[in-house]
Amino acid sequence: MAVAATAQYKNYINGRWVDALDGRTMESLNPATGEVLGIVPRSTARDAVAAIEAAAQAFPKWRRVPAPRRAEILFRAAEIMVRRKEELGRLVTMEMGKVLKEGLADVQEAIDETYYMAGEGRRLFGQTTPSELPDKFAMAIREPIGVAVAITPWNFPLAIPTWKIAPALVAGNTVVFKPASDTPILAATLVQIFEEAGLPPGVLNLVIGNGDEVGEPLVTHPQVGVVAFTGSTAVGREIALKATQHLKRVSLEMGGKNAIIVMDDADLNLALDGIVWSAFGTSGQRCTAASRIIVHRAVARELTERLVERAQRLRLGNGLDPTVDMGPVVNARQLQRIHQYVQIGVQEGAKLLCGGTIVREGDLARGFFYAPTVFGDVRPEMRIAQEEIFGPVTAIITVDSLEEAIAVNNGVQYGLVTSIYTRDINRAFRALREIDTGIVYVNAGTIGAEVHLPFGGTKNTGNGHREAGVQALDIFTEWKTVFIDYSGRLQRAMIDIAPLPS
Ligand code: NAP
Repeated sequence: MAVAATAQYKNYINGRWVDALDGRTMESLNPATGEVLGIVPRSTARDAVAAIEAAAQAFPKWRRVPAPRRAEILFRAAEIMVRRKEELGRLVTMEMGKVLKEGLADVQEAIDETYYMAGEGRRLFGQTTPSELPDKFAMAIREPIGVAVAITPWNFPLAIPTWKIAPALVAGNTVVFKPASDTPILAATLVQIFEEAGLPPGVLNLVIGNGDEVGEPLVTHPQVGVVAFTGSTAVGREIALKATQHLKRVSLEMGGKNAIIVMDDADLNLALDGIVWSAFGTSGQRCTAASRIIVHRAVARELTERLVERAQRLRLGNGLDPTVDMGPVVNARQLQRIHQYVQIGVQEGAKLLCGGTIVREGDLARGFFYAPTVFGDVRPEMRIAQEEIFGPVTAIITVDSLEEAIAVNNGVQYGLVTSIYTRDINRAFRALREIDTGIVYVNAGTIGAEVHLPFGGTKNTGNGHREAGVQALDIFTEWKTVFIDYSGRLQRAMIDIAPLPS
């Protein structure tokens, strides 16, 4: 889709496309070129409240639509995405910056999740179980919560919103969607797709605006039942503190400091492919990015030399160009943040082996490009080995044993993904028992979630919930336990013990 420079986008509230109530706007930029892709609303709390009220009003009717019928709308939305995949993938590249094959993968993940959750419309399994009393039936069923708020980041601008919107809708909730300010056009496009698929007014609402300007009612309003957030740990913590004061359910998917462990018996070619993809894919802007490489001393030198050589060969540029390996980072603030972390690494005494610069050559000067960066001689306690950088920067830490590798891996505040390269099955199983992250890969990089498996992390990466998989339904449903006594007499649990036949 060719996006006109002055294209205008709106909020979507109660089935209508509307400007922000006070008429303010902001721009969405292409991070590879600096070009303005469109003008979008800069909403305030008043717009958020209008969206919440619309969602609350639509809820009683939507929850009574049979789940298989709700699911038909999701199926149609997925089909529209399939039809428009190429155009949507290009839009992901233009608004967020990742290279086109990754832009298309973002769309594919949205398609997969929407189909998968549509399938749940004919399952939404509860539980039936025997009662301890005769002539009594017992079951537990899922009920929607009410208004679900989805707050999402820019790095997976289609996939992550569908991870929240699709399970919320199929379970019978209505939704207020607050996308990242860096990817509002994709958010509006996704909502248009759900509208075209046939969602009734008020069931899905979109509020575009800066988190600190629209966020408050989204997480504190009495009519909001659940807040599903993906983003940084700092913002997630703030949201959780506010929302839980109002006793709301909050699901948090937050930062990572993921590691790839390379043992002395690893297939180094395979490990290198996994490291380059996991450290520099999406310019390192994945919550699953490999920002630490924990390598056994016996292979550290060879691995380091070959990784630096591979990183230096990566071609930077506009992700629409098929010869480009790595696109820009998302905005100027992120570019500066990454550069500051690199300077911190140098000050801490780590060895800058390649990269470490903002790239300003030729056309790249118009965008936000950072050179793929590898640090050697990194100690586990250094800030570059502890804090999430969210850019194309990875830190090599040398260890002498599997036990030390696992201790280093676990010695961070985050717990999203770890991968280990080894040919020794005993080591692999010991590692997967001891590693304390929510996701573990053996002989594959840290990237590669599949939508039908639970996704999420331990420690400061999350708060115990999992997205994707059927587990996502636990975020968006309440359990209702039901007893039906057909004995026709008072039966007291725990008192009237059922007699055995004589
Ligand atoms: P972010 O700055 O935390 O923002 C995430 C979302 O929260 C955005 O929509 C943002 O809006 C909104 N927000 C900011 N302040 C808010 C407030 N006070 N109230 C309500 N909403 C508010 O994160 P990001 O920079 O977009 O994304 C990068 C982070 O996401 C990284 O830490 C990454 O690890 C994490 N992430 C985690 C996962 C996972 O599943 N674990 C997946 C992907 C990304 P604005 O854009 O308007 O500020």
